[in-house]
Amino acid sequence: MDTTIETPQPKYRIGKTPTPDGLYPVTVDGQLVGHIYRWHGEWWARVIGQTVDWQYSSREKAAAALETAAASKDKPTGASQAEGIAAAGIVPWLHPRMKPTRRNILAAGIALGRLVELAWEPLHGYPGSDNRWQLRCLVCDQTVMRWWSHLRGRNGDPTPRPVWRHEGCIALEKQAARVADLLPMPTSTCPCEVAHPTEREAVHELLVEAERARRAGDTESLRTHLVRLLGPCPASSARSAVMAELAEKRRKQA
Ligand SMILES: [Zn+2]
Ligand SMILES: [Zn+2]
Repeated sequence: MDTTIETPQPKYRIGKTPTPDGLYPVTVDGQLVGHIYRWHGEWWARVIGQTVDWQYSSREKAAAALETAAASKDKPTGASQAEGIAAAGIVPWLHPRMKPTRRNILAAGIALGRLVELAWEPLHGYPGSDNRWQLRCLVCDQTVMRWWSHLRGRNGDPTPRPVWRHEGCIALEKQAARVADLLPMPTSTCPCEVAHPTEREAVHELLVEAERARRAGDTESLRTHLVRLLGPCPASSARSAVMAELAEKRRKQA
């Protein structure tokens, strides 16, 4: 007779390699049951096939919740639900977990404009300054994870910290010249079919329109505005500079 007592040992495994989006796969008996990720200091769990995220205080708790949910074929319990976070972003340049508020749009626009100047290509939307951002280094074509808080520089000096691009890139002394070679000719006027604003007044008006659309729940209009505010453009540096001015002005008023 088998007298072994079943101990509720956790069976989940957390994958070591995150998805491009920073989500860690969680498996139970080799079956994918969901993903967990760190976001603004908390751990979040998302059951496979669901679009709602659940918040926990540790990665182990988040993974355990996915295991329990898989066993009961039910929603995770004991957690608060992420408020209004859709699984899919409205536009590819703003991370789905970033609400398209004026503040976030400005932060994303500034970051995206600067990335072009630094020869980085974002592989997903702007995730906020303190979350991992998967970027392609255009100098050497490798994909790496960086934090915008490091790339944006400090105290008004826009030089990334550290200056060294990343492990495995070309020699440091050759990097600046290579970046300069890669940069497109800067232009202050947008030549695109979809007009991207580069004048202060036009950017401001579009931000007001975007905020109005967001509050009204008008996703289609919001998308149109976000394409113009954040979409790639040869004049993205000019647009980004205007956005930096607007963000700065708001900070001083606050
Ligand atoms: Zn590189
Ligand atoms: Zn344009």
